[in-house]
Amino acid sequence: MNKQTKYIFVTGGVVSSLGKGIASASIGQLLKARGLTVTLLKLDPYINVDPGTMSPYQHGEVYVTDDGAETDLDLGHYERFIDINMNQVNNATTGQVYHTVIEKERRGDYLGGTVQVIPHITDEIKSRILAAAQNNGAFDVLITEIGGTVGDIESLPFLEAIRQFGLDVGKKNALYIHLTLVPFIRAANELKTKPTQHSVRDLREIGIQPDILICRTEGRLSRDMRKKIGLFCNVDANEVIEARDVESIYEVPLALERNGIGKQLVTKLDLNATEPDLEEWKNFVDRVKKPSRKVRIGICGKYVELRDAYKSIIESFAHAGAMNDARVELDWLSAEDLESDHDGTLLSKVDGLLVPGGFGERGFEGKLNAIRYARENGMPYFGICLGMQCAVVEFARNVCGLNDADSKELSKDTKYPVIDFQPGQEDIKRMGGTMRLGAYPCELEAGSIAEKIYGKSRISERHRHRYEVNNDYRQTLSEHGLRFSGICPDNNLVEIVELPDHPWFIAVQYHPELRSRVASPHPLFVDFVRAAIQFKEGHTP
Ligand code: GLN
Repeated sequence: MNKQTKYIFVTGGVVSSLGKGIASASIGQLLKARGLTVTLLKLDPYINVDPGTMSPYQHGEVYVTDDGAETDLDLGHYERFIDINMNQVNNATTGQVYHTVIEKERRGDYLGGTVQVIPHITDEIKSRILAAAQNNGAFDVLITEIGGTVGDIESLPFLEAIRQFGLDVGKKNALYIHLTLVPFIRAANELKTKPTQHSVRDLREIGIQPDILICRTEGRLSRDMRKKIGLFCNVDANEVIEARDVESIYEVPLALERNGIGKQLVTKLDLNATEPDLEEWKNFVDRVKKPSRKVRIGICGKYVELRDAYKSIIESFAHAGAMNDARVELDWLSAEDLESDHDGTLLSKVDGLLVPGGFGERGFEGKLNAIRYARENGMPYFGICLGMQCAVVEFARNVCGLNDADSKELSKDTKYPVIDFQPGQEDIKRMGGTMRLGAYPCELEAGSIAEKIYGKSRISERHRHRYEVNNDYRQTLSEHGLRFSGICPDNNLVEIVELPDHPWFIAVQYHPELRSRVASPHPLFVDFVRAAIQFKEGHTP
């Protein structure tokens, strides 16, 4: 407990979507590769308590942790890059901060006082930073990423809090990194530094002098350019780090390392670090960049035009592709287009089908058509959450002859509710944080395909859903050949279904994509890609 944690704060400037999450995760990875213990915290300036109630159009994927927190998708990058488990303490929002302060006020904790942004809100933010650093013992380094862009009204309390925090812990223990954009202006054929100057000026105005600038650029940042940026932003040219666009996000740590960020951090924070060991990471990047074969996976979902909604699935395929020496090309199939694709024209172009998680009715019938095609044509099928529920409905209708079988989510008065509310979910009216969330154990049936793929009989996976396979239909479904190969021992709920007579047909109620990491790609994704390659090559998987 006496260990002094070092704090790195990452802010963003100029525009959003510069990849602050990837940059923070990459920095964490470089420090971990130097033998340090690292954790991260994402501070989000919006007022929602968590992203669980936001549409994927607003926020992208909701990343669920083992302890059942619904968090920002950047936590997924942290876990994938650094191979650590995040939980509720690793993500805080303005909504949570105010919620806590208001509860304290009602309790009388501030009796007699006026409750204000400074110091009450800022103190609450600071105590969350400390809590993240001390969670499960003190870490060597906590990297705190501030969501939003410097200059936004709503991120001001966070910036003020991290300014104060730096003062509290002292110069050698805190460091500020600002990620900015140096745009290339085509008409002038030039990289422009002015937006960076302005954004750093905004930051300095509120009392934060960045120690390091990471500059996203399309082209090379010459030494002269870095000197110029340094001059205007009050840093040395060496503290201006180029972050040129790269082919794969997994190259970012290597690119930042080449440009000297690791050494700078070690010196500035006086870290007790070893030489970085990046061999395995480099091997992984080589495998991502130079695979010898290709395979095409169709993903049929509701938000196909919005890749951020499926971030973890996309990354899981990158990991699984690397393990299979294959580039996995994802074909985004609109569930609505598949409704009229009766002869399988769209599906004949892919080597495997995945139906991911989702909510609501749109495109449901299209998904069922696609699953039927995969089931009847021996094409590998991987269902996740809603994709599992669809597979069960399709099987009930087309194999068991339960015409109009449905999920209660879509049809309240279906005659055959093969997918129904979980026990206890029927009466829940509040929307936030009320689904079945987080990690649950699952027991795999001996001799099942799932058990073979996982190589063990008990697993733990993360959940986010309200509906379940209705146990009343288990007997009928299994008599017709659907195998329930994974069951949650806590509550006897179905976690995995598979078709023993199909080359690869596995659907899961949980979200395996939330557990795939560079250091440990998820076995289901790895095996699904393997099966899709074999399907493409005309073999039986
Ligand atoms: N809508 C379904 C449910 O609530 C599936 C959820 C999901 O796919 N994450 O059970």
